[in-house]
Amino acid sequence: MKDTAKHQGLRNQLVNVLEQKGIKDKNVLEAIRNIPRHLFLDSSFEDYAYQDKAFPIGAGQTISQPYTVAFQSQLLEVEKDHKILEIGTGSGYQTTVLFKMGAKVYSVERQHELFKTTSHLLRKLGIRPKHLSFGDGYKGLPNYAPFDSIIVTAGAPFIPKPLMAQLKVGGRLVIPVGEEKQIMTLLIRKTETRFEKHEFGDFRFVPLLEDKN
Ligand code: SAH
Repeated sequence: MKDTAKHQGLRNQLVNVLEQKGIKDKNVLEAIRNIPRHLFLDSSFEDYAYQDKAFPIGAGQTISQPYTVAFQSQLLEVEKDHKILEIGTGSGYQTTVLFKMGAKVYSVERQHELFKTTSHLLRKLGIRPKHLSFGDGYKGLPNYAPFDSIIVTAGAPFIPKPLMAQLKVGGRLVIPVGEEKQIMTLLIRKTETRFEKHEFGDFRFVPLLEDKN
């Protein structure tokens, strides 16, 4: 698949929609304006790629809705060279948004099939995260910690302790918490032992899986 002027036009419209829905971070909006989302989807979804919707990406998983990607990315307050951990690589679209914003991205995926196809796709597109890992996101990536921020892109029944431990002081953890639906939650690590919690309303994600596939 190619990226064309038509795709660019649809992306500009999508960015307008996201601005109307309240996304303000210019760097987030520019990343979304520049990334060909249709390349992260099966070709049968090409015509729909710039609607503000989630789509299936195989292995029972979804690429998050652009508004959700933008909302989470904005909460991270990404700065150039920030070291960011993503849990749930999935299609690699969110990984790419963070990479294009200048972050050093580490990402973990639990499903081997997705890990393989997405690693291949990102290499092909010239997107270079610092590290892609096949494994259990509940554990984070202790060997690469601490991180400036951590983003979880699946619904977590609770906030995993290892992720809190792998955050720098001043760092931000953005995680949708809940079973059926999730409350978007931001934890800011104020000191070694104190975390400040903010909540941002309901979202719906595929579940963060524990001990199963
Ligand atoms: N960021 C992705 C969203 C994919 S959906 C994107 O932009 O496309 C959530 C992803 O989390 C799925 O790919 C799913 O396989 C993965 N996942 C679920 N449980 C996980 C776990 N315990 N550790 C790591 N990844 C997990």
